[in-house]
Amino acid sequence: MTVHTTTLGREHEIDRREFLKTSSAFSLALLLPWPATTLGQLKTLAMEDGKMAYTLPELPYEYDALEPHYDEETVTLHHDKHHAGYVNGLNAALDKLEAARAAGDFAAIKALSKEVAFHGSGHLLHSIFWTNMKPGGGGLPSGEVAAQIEKDFGSYDAFRKQFLAATNSVEGSGWGILGWHKDLEKLLVLQAEIHQNLTVQGITPILVCDVWEHAYYLKYQNKRPEWSAAFMEYLVNWDDVNTRFLAAK
Ligand code: MN
Repeated sequence: MTVHTTTLGREHEIDRREFLKTSSAFSLALLLPWPATTLGQLKTLAMEDGKMAYTLPELPYEYDALEPHYDEETVTLHHDKHHAGYVNGLNAALDKLEAARAAGDFAAIKALSKEVAFHGSGHLLHSIFWTNMKPGGGGLPSGEVAAQIEKDFGSYDAFRKQFLAATNSVEGSGWGILGWHKDLEKLLVLQAEIHQNLTVQGITPILVCDVWEHAYYLKYQNKRPEWSAAFMEYLVNWDDVNTRFLAAK
């Protein structure tokens, strides 16, 4: 059956109710209120045939809540269409891999592996991105992540300059990323080209700024540095970044 709960945005609750109503094989847990996962990612739903599918996390605020720095139209399209596309793409790629294993036919393994990396990374980064922002955000970091930023970058200002320089100079579509690497015991600023390229394996992203054109073009047009500056100055939810840092440690 189709994954009704990946249906997007404002139709989400209606579809979910309809879905649950028509699905008798569900465990009781699925009838409980939808849990707000702390880290806003990796949400899955059991399907009638016992398979698991990933679902689009709801925004933790209204579509217009980040105005005027992040406009309602961009947020709506970005979440309901672009992020949803990665969720659906990840589920589709995993289904195809299951079929390949069943058939013992791995002729398409290179393309399928790439699809999992692309859509899986896209889903995870967007899930982090939405919770990394809040209305009235920005300002200085707080909590343990603030101390770690000072330790690894010298000062918040030095970190901010490096993060923005990296973010603004991503070649083509990609992300600026602050992540904690538990084996290197260090915060690192990285670029991601598309979603999965240029990483240090094993890093846990805790602050991510989307600089695909779909993330900012309606409001900021070609002025990527104005978007990233607004993201840092007015939108970053440092409580979420600190929560992610503590979880990653
Ligand atoms: Mn995006």
